[in-house]
Amino acid sequence: ASAVQELVSLRFYQDGEDENYLYKLSLIEELKIALESDKSPLFMNYQPKLNMNTGKIDKLEALIRWINKKGDFVNPELFIDLAEKAGLIVTLTRWVILNVIQQVEQWNKQGYYFKVSINLSAQDIQNEQFVDYLLTTVKAHSIATTQITLELTERDIVENEQLVVARLSHLKSLGFAISVDDYGIGQSSLAKLKSLPVDELKIDKTFILKLEQCQKDQDIVASTISLGHKLGMSVVAEGIENKESLILLNDFKCDYAQGYYISRPVSAEKLIEWYQTYESPL
Ligand code: C2E
Ligand code: MG
Ligand code: MG
Repeated sequence: ASAVQELVSLRFYQDGEDENYLYKLSLIEELKIALESDKSPLFMNYQPKLNMNTGKIDKLEALIRWINKKGDFVNPELFIDLAEKAGLIVTLTRWVILNVIQQVEQWNKQGYYFKVSINLSAQDIQNEQFVDYLLTTVKAHSIATTQITLELTERDIVENEQLVVARLSHLKSLGFAISVDDYGIGQSSLAKLKSLPVDELKIDKTFILKLEQCQKDQDIVASTISLGHKLGMSVVAEGIENKESLILLNDFKCDYAQGYYISRPVSAEKLIEWYQTYESPL
């Protein structure tokens, strides 16, 4: 067995019985090959964030996709988790960064200007070479650092808080924007928000999916939006699946809306097709 296999099997045994563990091992081996291959079975999808002040689409979130040998889509949450456990996440994130930045450069040349966010894992932001790699890649493709937003969850931040906060401040000083993803379901602490160098707060979709049916969700979301604003942050709601929740969020003065009701995550080509005939739903 390879070192990776040993490491992973050990972890899964420690986690208790895992019936799928052979399947997971095979996915890890396949993912390693995918990350090295020239014709990669990995690709990025992009989901628009609707600017509720202007009705325009000026930001996107980049989301990774993988079609495995059997021709099936592998759930990103599953393979991101495996990549983290198998020590592949830093390589995967570099692949994402390069891919997204090349796409942003191409769009800029075609006259489409979007700010695009990239999801990070705890290991990425703690990696000593991370800032260097990101900055070098941005410069090599002559895009602006201000076009890239980095999304992290609260869990990724608290894992090694001092180091991560210092690194985020550095990234912010270079022009990158920082976003707290899945806000409200982790170890959310109001004290923490105060001290984080954060530009954007993304309210977790569990509060948004049934917003129109749930008064408590509405109260939580409305007050989180005003909290974010008081702390100088832009607030994004993710998981908008219907018009009613979009209207509520607009009433609550939410800055950005993201969800299937606006658009599902789609390929770069489809995104542009969609964008060309886009009309604001507001
Ligand atoms: P996330 O960063 O919170 O991304 C939002 C997820 O919500 C995406 O799932 C998106 O497809 C989904 N979503 C968007 N709008 C709606 C909606 O209206 N309703 C519902 N039910 N879902 C909606 P996806 O693409 O499956 O990604 C899942 C998670 O996997 C992401 O959550 C993120 O944590 C991780 N992930 C995805 N791509 C990457 C990546 O490139 N790098 C890293 N490190 N993680 C990634
Ligand atoms: Mg995200
Ligand atoms: Mg999220």
